Amino acid sequence: MNSADTRKIRLVMHLRSMGISDTNVLAAMEKVPRDAFIPAQMQDQAYEDIAVPIGRGQTISQPFVVATMTQALEVSDRDKVLEIGTGSGYQCCVLAHLCRRVYSIERHKPLLLQAEKMFDFLKLRNITAIAGDGMKGWPGQAPFDKIICTACAPGDPPAALLDQLKIGGIMVIPVATGEQQVLRRYKKEGEDTFAVKDLMPVRFVPLLPNLAPASENADDEYGFAAG
Ligand code: SAH
Repeated sequence: MNSADTRKIRLVMHLRSMGISDTNVLAAMEKVPRDAFIPAQMQDQAYEDIAVPIGRGQTISQPFVVATMTQALEVSDRDKVLEIGTGSGYQCCVLAHLCRRVYSIERHKPLLLQAEKMFDFLKLRNITAIAGDGMKGWPGQAPFDKIICTACAPGDPPAALLDQLKIGGIMVIPVATGEQQVLRRYKKEGEDTFAVKDLMPVRFVPLLPNLAPASENADDEYGFAAG
């Protein structure tokens, strides 16, 4: 076993000790090599339970947060899942091991292209990703069994996302409450009715409208380890 495998198993044990009990989620996280998503100069942090910068001011989320969000979605292998904020593609790959198909939207085109290389590298064929504004959802593919948003909504979640959730479906999204952010779970009970539960305080980058202009893509300080 190489040292990445040893560190990965240690991380999974840590997640279990932190209360992640869904064995399917733990197994999916054990299958995805987080080190392959992490810039070369931060490889020593690949299996630490911390968020890591991936360029363009964005981050790959903390493993405990990925695990908590994935567990809260109650993903089944029949589910069609929408992810907003592809980023490095890590969360998307964890979901791809658990559901039928993942649709993912990223507003930074260079990040999307890098993530798509990772999907190929890991031979995950049930992911469809596009560059776009995830606040509008993906009307052509709606409705979704599950929706996960990995950027923080300013207050209430975008209406399009709540609309595009199937009745009985679950959405997990960080929302801003003043200076704080909280991870919130919405279970759609009827056309306009939701059971809402706050899961934990979090820190995410903001959900921003529209495709990122080229000026926002200018910073390219990170090289990647694989892909
Ligand atoms: N899921 C990612 C973490 C992403 S960080 C991972 O596993 O690595 C949040 C991402 O959301 C950033 O890449 C950011 O560019 C993106 N984002 C922010 N607002 C968005 C929007 N309206 N539509 C799509 N992506 C958005």
